[in-house]
Amino acid sequence: MTAATRDYYEILGVARDADAATIKSAFRKLAMKLHPDQNPGCKVSEDKFKEIGEAYSVLSDPEKRAQYDRFGKTFDVGGGPGFGPGAAGFNDFSDIFNEIFGGGFEDMFARGGGGRGPRNGPERGADLRYDVEITLEQAFKGMEREIVVPRAQACEPCAGTGSEGKAPLETCRTCNGAGQVRASQGMFRIVRTCPACHGRGQAIKTPCKSCGGRGLTQKERTLSVKIPAGVEDGTRIRLSGEGDSGLRNGPPGDLYLFLSVKPHSLFERDGADLYCRAPAPMCKAALGGEMEIPTIEGERTKITIPAGAQTGRRFRIKGKGMTHLRSKERGDLHVELLVETPVNLSAKQRKLLEEFAKDCGEEAHPQTQGFFDTVKKFFDNGDPLVR
Ligand SMILES: [Zn+2]
Ligand SMILES: [Zn+2]
Repeated sequence: MTAATRDYYEILGVARDADAATIKSAFRKLAMKLHPDQNPGCKVSEDKFKEIGEAYSVLSDPEKRAQYDRFGKTFDVGGGPGFGPGAAGFNDFSDIFNEIFGGGFEDMFARGGGGRGPRNGPERGADLRYDVEITLEQAFKGMEREIVVPRAQACEPCAGTGSEGKAPLETCRTCNGAGQVRASQGMFRIVRTCPACHGRGQAIKTPCKSCGGRGLTQKERTLSVKIPAGVEDGTRIRLSGEGDSGLRNGPPGDLYLFLSVKPHSLFERDGADLYCRAPAPMCKAALGGEMEIPTIEGERTKITIPAGAQTGRRFRIKGKGMTHLRSKERGDLHVELLVETPVNLSAKQRKLLEEFAKDCGEEAHPQTQGFFDTVKKFFDNGDPLVR
């Protein structure tokens, strides 16, 4: 198992909000314990040693850490290239170990990581996040939408080389192109990443004026994205290769669309089912009749209210809910009745209601009558707990 499938914070045994010093100290302790010199020939320790290196290389870099915090889980689910060895490369970890222990780790990583050499190889571009808010109707129908994404792209004037006028890179004079420098320290011979070229072995003579030698510039790109019908609040869509461009012909990162669905004024959603509360005038609920109900597709449908319907009565309209993702099926629309007591009565209406009330017998309000009878019994018998 690589660290890509395990939580980096867990690997280092630190809290998610641990500061840089805590992370460094936790890593140091683990690195001392798991160091191959302490456990010669032990494959488990060696793997663990690399795992903590991988975790630390991400968590010690504020940019990578922020990205991991945002995307960590998604990588595993989507199966995309994560922060595993493919993304960070063991070459990067050896720098970290060297920074802490003072060098000499190249050989080990060369064995495990597929070769050590000048670090001028391709580097994968960063992943990007883009938040999209849509309405419930749009989630129902699905939609195509244009988005403008600022992202790093290869600088045009230098063709991504970072060198002014696309001039070829020169061999680094400090390391003569090796990407590493050697020095003796007591009885040890130490190999370090070349500080002049950062291990690339090659140096830019004059940095490109447009990108300052980075080889990348920030540009806006318009993309047309398809949002499928039935998406839910919190759905993430991965657009492969639409993140930042890679360095030195490295593959681009991915773009993640984070969808949120706005609350609706009429409908509440639970998966594929929709819920709607529909007020009905008291008289209509008493007399019964048809009632129009809106649907999410912007049409009208009808329910038949039986005479004497009460508040809370539910009606199910089959197949008028949300669309299921990647299916033609639809959920149901549940309507809950809310009987409305008339207000702001005119003198005439009041008189009519008073007459109506006088005319009403017990049988018109069985619930009220039932409650009244129970209350009467309660007082007549007496309740020792109440007194
Ligand atoms: Zn160099
Ligand atoms: Zn440039």
